[in-house]
Amino acid sequence: MKSKKLISRRFTLKGIGAIGALTFLDSKTVLSKDETRTNSDLTSHSSDIRKKIFQKVFQTPFIDTHEHLIEEKERFVGASHPRVKSDDWTMLFSHYLNSDMLTAGMPKQDYDRFFSPKVDPLDKWALLEPYWQAIKNTGYGQAVCIALRELYGVGELSVKTIKEVQLGYENVRRPNFYKHILCDLANIESCQVNCLTGSPFMESNMPTLLMQDLSIVGMFAGPDFKQFGEPTGIEITSLSDWHKVIDWWFNKYGKYAVAVKSQNAYSRDINYEKVPGEKVEAIFKKRLDKQSLTSAEKKLLEDHLFWYAVDMATEFNLPVKLHTGYYAGENRMPLSRLINNPGSAAELCNIAPKTNFVFMHICYPYYEELISIAKQYTNAHIDMCWAWIINPVASKDFLKKYLVTAPANKVLTFGGDYIPVEPVLGHAVIARRGIALTLSELVEEGWLSLEDALKVVDPIMHGNARRIFNLQEKEKVLKSVKW
Ligand SMILES: [Zn+2]
Repeated sequence: MKSKKLISRRFTLKGIGAIGALTFLDSKTVLSKDETRTNSDLTSHSSDIRKKIFQKVFQTPFIDTHEHLIEEKERFVGASHPRVKSDDWTMLFSHYLNSDMLTAGMPKQDYDRFFSPKVDPLDKWALLEPYWQAIKNTGYGQAVCIALRELYGVGELSVKTIKEVQLGYENVRRPNFYKHILCDLANIESCQVNCLTGSPFMESNMPTLLMQDLSIVGMFAGPDFKQFGEPTGIEITSLSDWHKVIDWWFNKYGKYAVAVKSQNAYSRDINYEKVPGEKVEAIFKKRLDKQSLTSAEKKLLEDHLFWYAVDMATEFNLPVKLHTGYYAGENRMPLSRLINNPGSAAELCNIAPKTNFVFMHICYPYYEELISIAKQYTNAHIDMCWAWIINPVASKDFLKKYLVTAPANKVLTFGGDYIPVEPVLGHAVIARRGIALTLSELVEEGWLSLEDALKVVDPIMHGNARRIFNLQEKEKVLKSVKW
């Protein structure tokens, strides 16, 4: 019974291509009665384009280039785990959609009760209901709605369906549910995880499915003596000792990591300048002695160590993933700083032509500027991770413009960017829909032939990622890894 149900859901997902095409046909039937034959020919021609493109996109596997998924076994620890706010249906709301709840005006007290493990899951709907209509249509809301539908068979959240949702949550959240959701349902080949538990690298139990980034942020910001220094056992008395710490992480994990990652743009602009070691030796000592640094000193030290880590990454053939643009969370986002990210990104590409940079999240909302950088610099790549759920329509606009502006071999089109695995499925559906609409519109508007549009699907959904992150080689190494 259960397996039959799962299979039918899989078909439902793969069949969304046809549904998308039908929706399009419906909108086209609103034509005047005396429409010319040419018009109707055009209509059936267009719908045929959409059918072919949707089918191809929904059947093509993604390589998911950015997630924050915790290990599957950690999901069974329950709400005592720091990244599991609540081990009930509200877990699906706990990353991203929770921010829309707050910005829609939900009081903090209700918010805390909503995610509290002490409140009966069935009583939680009443807390959400006043805000639900306001947030269900955002990208964050739609990703969760699709997950509720595809995983639990619930079309609409209400007082009547909440019990079904909770039962669905418990039934799905069982051993091997990561593989089931990611591979069987979302048609994802592999993910690239930036673990947020504090450790720079996660030795995953599923190393070929949950491939990992090596975090470099604590190598240069701070730097983080505890999380990055202590595990190495290196005694740190000078800047050159800290260089050895950075070397240690690359020597230990460089061959297993798919990339390095920094989300330092949450604290400052990404305008890292090359600063020689002699210039920051004394500043490093001050930091070691726990003396406070001026902001100019702090920048010099960070800039020097950033490039030390980035040069190591380049030596290990690891692309450098940098957060750009929009901030997660709520009620904090210095747009006047973020607007500088694209200009600084161009400068990074200029300084280090041998380093492959991956600028994440399309620098939303400044994506047009970022496209110009991918067009100009050989070593600039753009990752659409997270973007489809920040703003699905802008993401479609980005991809349309990107494909007729910059080389198609430097764009990555999907990263769920989630801590809970369930909404990754919703995000993947939104992304596929967006990619299919992008290509359909480009063909219908005469910018691309149908043949060329179909040819671009494999590279942008997985081929580029395989090449940029050397996945064939990584898979080989990770298959036999013994942590
Ligand atoms: Zn992220």
